[in-house]
Amino acid sequence: MKKKILVANRGEIAIRLIRAIQELGHEAVAVYEKPDEMSRHIRIANEAILIGNGPRCDYLNIEKIIRAAKVSGAHAIHPGYGFLAENPFFAKACEKEGIVFVGPSSQTIADLGNKVIARKIMAEAGIPMVPGTPNLSPGKDGIAEALAFAGEYGYPIMLKATSGGGGRGIRLIESDQQMKEQIPVARSEALAAFNDDSVYLEKVVLKPKHVEVQILADKAGKTLHLGTRDCSIQRRNQKLVEIAPSMIKNQPLLDEICATAVKAAKAANYFNAGTVEFLIDSDFNYYFMEINTRVQVEHTVTEMITGIDIVRNQINLAFGQDLSFDQSDVQLRGHAIEVRINAEDPKNDFMPEGGKKVEVYRSTGGFGVRLDGFVYQGYVIPEVYDSLLVKLTVHGFTWDETVGRLIRCLQNFHIRGPKTTIPFYLNIAKEKDFVSGDFDTSYIETHPHIFAYDCEDSEVGKLAKLIAEIHYRKENTFAV
Ligand code: ADP
Ligand code: ADP
Ligand code: MG
Repeated sequence: MKKKILVANRGEIAIRLIRAIQELGHEAVAVYEKPDEMSRHIRIANEAILIGNGPRCDYLNIEKIIRAAKVSGAHAIHPGYGFLAENPFFAKACEKEGIVFVGPSSQTIADLGNKVIARKIMAEAGIPMVPGTPNLSPGKDGIAEALAFAGEYGYPIMLKATSGGGGRGIRLIESDQQMKEQIPVARSEALAAFNDDSVYLEKVVLKPKHVEVQILADKAGKTLHLGTRDCSIQRRNQKLVEIAPSMIKNQPLLDEICATAVKAAKAANYFNAGTVEFLIDSDFNYYFMEINTRVQVEHTVTEMITGIDIVRNQINLAFGQDLSFDQSDVQLRGHAIEVRINAEDPKNDFMPEGGKKVEVYRSTGGFGVRLDGFVYQGYVIPEVYDSLLVKLTVHGFTWDETVGRLIRCLQNFHIRGPKTTIPFYLNIAKEKDFVSGDFDTSYIETHPHIFAYDCEDSEVGKLAKLIAEIHYRKENTFAV
């Protein structure tokens, strides 16, 4: 039956969700704040509702989103990622109003959004994890507990916000002095960012690889995995480049990690799509880190190697359908790489380039190439949202072919106006440790030469871009 689904998000993810909704024969309702009125997601949705002047506060306003769903007669809400996606109160509000929430139950979101509760559930299920503390007690007691933990395990130690996410709320602590100073600072920051000042400690895994497993689970209890992704290339604990599957040349280990992820999801009574994140040390020990209770930015690489549409499955699962395939139907084919093309200047500490107009947008294409974006030529990047413009995902039969495709696409992708991360990714794609598939979370800081590229175009390049600029201005086409 045809349904109406409200998309409680913006940018490339809103477009991604709207595409899946419409392919299923359903209707998509977009919501937007005033600074986003130029966004493509408003134009491709079946209807669009202005929810306020924003910025950000309206996308985060549970009452307004629920009201928009009611006004439009939406049967369901898809939260995407970020904003309200991992807010248990939002899922609860949907449940209360009889609106289908495309995601797990509010209880699961609440349990897994709290890293300490999640660790407890996983410890009871026998899932391997790094040693850590429960929530530190308030005041001096907490500092005493932290120093005792440090005495037992030694530095460095991770100080983490219990309700943290998006790479924020994580601090590396290297001495007793730092521990004493940083706990109160971490608490107040966590309170401001996550409305919860709880913090806890984890032993640091040195030079780890970040490997995660995509899960799909139905209400009948079938829980499947869609293989691994490696998201080790990070900056400040935020992912920049993601690949699927992991390049670790130890298939029994990867199979074991996937089986452990399924076990972890079952331990949390998991339903819908989710991701179980692990860290792997240089001796191939692996440790549970967290479960993200939503679709992830990097889900595209898994879709490319499995051919399975994760968002489509999320929606069908939310409407109560069971998974129509089994684990043996999930075949991993080839390799995929995603780069998050942001309007940022990597040479200037990744300073966002918001406020600038996209003067030229000339994207790429061809065999094994996927683009998930929302900007177009003439689009002015709002200063008030994140700087992701478009995700480029390439798929190839072999790793070498995939890397070659990435290089070709990045060379042919021209965005003028804002500075972007394209030249930076091009350096990574040509860098030997990346090409060999051997990298860990310290990659960016241990490979400073990836920042060495010319900002100034060569004379020939300038001319070519000028011609492209005139041509595209004339046509005023936009590609997403
Ligand atoms: P992924 O793990 O899918 O790559 P990220 O960690 O990059 O996702 O987060 C995706 C987006 O969601 C980012 O814009 C990030 O700021 C936001 N985000 C993630 N977790 C939270 C959270 N707990 N609270 C607020 N925003 C979050
Ligand atoms: P978030 O909820 O913000 O995604 P995570 O707990 O998933 O936070 O951690 C994000 C990143 O921080 C990881 O991918 C990893 O690079 C780093 N990290 C987190 N915990 C540890 C740890 N115990 N040891 C080493 N690195 C860690
Ligand atoms: Mg994480």
